[in-house]
Amino acid sequence: MRAHGVTVALLVWGTVASAAPADTVRVQAARLTMGALLDITVFAADSTQAAGALESAYAEVARLDTLLTDWRGDGDIARLNAAGDTLWHAVAPETREVVGEALRWAQLSRGAFDPTIRPLVVVWGFRGGVASRAPRADELAAARARVGARFVRVDSAAVRFTRTGMQLDLGGIAKGYALDRAAAVLETHGVRRALLDFAGQALALDAPPGLDAWPVVIDDPRRPRARPLAVVPLVRASVATSSQRERTVTRGGRRVGHILDPRSGRPVRRTRQASAFAARAVDADALATAAFVAGAGDAAQIATRAHASVLVVAHDGRVTRSAKFRVDARRRASIAWTPAPR
Ligand code: ADP
Ligand code: MG
Repeated sequence: MRAHGVTVALLVWGTVASAAPADTVRVQAARLTMGALLDITVFAADSTQAAGALESAYAEVARLDTLLTDWRGDGDIARLNAAGDTLWHAVAPETREVVGEALRWAQLSRGAFDPTIRPLVVVWGFRGGVASRAPRADELAAARARVGARFVRVDSAAVRFTRTGMQLDLGGIAKGYALDRAAAVLETHGVRRALLDFAGQALALDAPPGLDAWPVVIDDPRRPRARPLAVVPLVRASVATSSQRERTVTRGGRRVGHILDPRSGRPVRRTRQASAFAARAVDADALATAAFVAGAGDAAQIATRAHASVLVVAHDGRVTRSAKFRVDARRRASIAWTPAPR
């Protein structure tokens, strides 16, 4: 499939070997969840095992969507945002965990990634309800005053802001977190070989029978229908791609994208596409967004600090990669990596 910059191409290369008898059935499913298409391919002993694993994985993602969305409902994040106060709010362990990961990424990226970005997201019209003009300077300044990861506190089971009027938007990290959780659910059902593809972000467990890895294609944003930018062999790792194409609004006659620079308060223009490779999907997701904001040079430094890798296409079309992310003449990527110490 080909969605939002990432294509999953099965059987592109690999040695042919006999399938392990336990993994003879291949089942693929696709469902809309968290506002995007989640495509899951599993190999299982039989279709009953596969169906049970898929059902539980999608149920887990739906549960996390309810907790983490800032679009609707009365889940943890929606309630925190509606309160806008500085009191402690009890949240589910998963909410606390993903907010903690987001704050860690705000630090690692020196503020390029910021989960408190929501007031800016709203003022630019990415939650509906504003005119087609760009925000005025005073509107931007008011929104910026309500953004800053340093004004968020977490304890073991609660979250609070240290300023009023603050809001969280986990859109840059929640799908990655959900992928890690969905993969863990598949494993509790005995599934070892699987690929999960969440609209621009892939997470692999073990390779399909007969292959060394799941070949995941990163599209070239300069020539979307031509050769890919890279084909990443994925095993027990994740690759995420962020780009402005996915979600845009027209403001003042110009199309602007949904990834904002917390420091300027404006949509990022320096980057066309940023891909990130990491052991965990939560890290790949946050890093792709952070790299998009930080721009090519800083992105490589952030990736290295995080034991991860990036491949960034700048606005002018120049491609930059971090040191361990190699792409050969045939566009096959090889990534030397060591999982972060945990
Ligand atoms: P997608 O969700 O389309 O895969 P990203 O992972 O890059 O793309 O996340 C973009 C989303 O993250 C935006 O729609 C918005 O909700 C949120 N966001 C925008 N700018 C930032 C930022 N600087 N830091 C963290 N989150 C951001
Ligand atoms: Mg992201």
